[in-house]
Amino acid sequence: MPIKLYGSPVLREKAAPVDEITDELLDLIVGMRESLYYHQGVGLAANQIGVARQLFLADEGKGLKAFINPRIIETDGESSSEEGCLSLPEIYVDITRAQTLLLEYLDEKGEIRRLEADGLLARIIQHEYDHLKGVLISDRAGFLASRMIRGKLKRLRKRVRESL
Ligand code: ZN
Repeated sequence: MPIKLYGSPVLREKAAPVDEITDELLDLIVGMRESLYYHQGVGLAANQIGVARQLFLADEGKGLKAFINPRIIETDGESSSEEGCLSLPEIYVDITRAQTLLLEYLDEKGEIRRLEADGLLARIIQHEYDHLKGVLISDRAGFLASRMIRGKLKRLRKRVRESL
């Protein structure tokens, strides 16, 4: 499953909730997992492969987790770190995010679950959660970083326009 790049309209769509765990959805998760590992990423949202549904994967190095209809219900602390994104290759931005969070979501069996995350996993979750709202790391870049990545973003948009 090819990754949608910056400039693809689907990356700006607000993802719709998943209303049923179907075989199709489970197949989608398998496909997303392959894409994630192929690109050696740590997280992937469904709209990054063109499906505007509330679903993302995360693997901080401790095994794959799939989050369906996720909702961050609590956050605490702050931490700043550099982030990249498979949809914005070669672009890295320092982003301040919550240090810890509490997430409610559905697992692949449709069970409601809660997860307390911190460190890298909390960061991945917040990054992917942004994707589901159509928000990208370039939107969270500070003034200087925005200026620095402007050229790269422009080239990406051009590449996507030409491929449409
Ligand atoms: Zn991303």
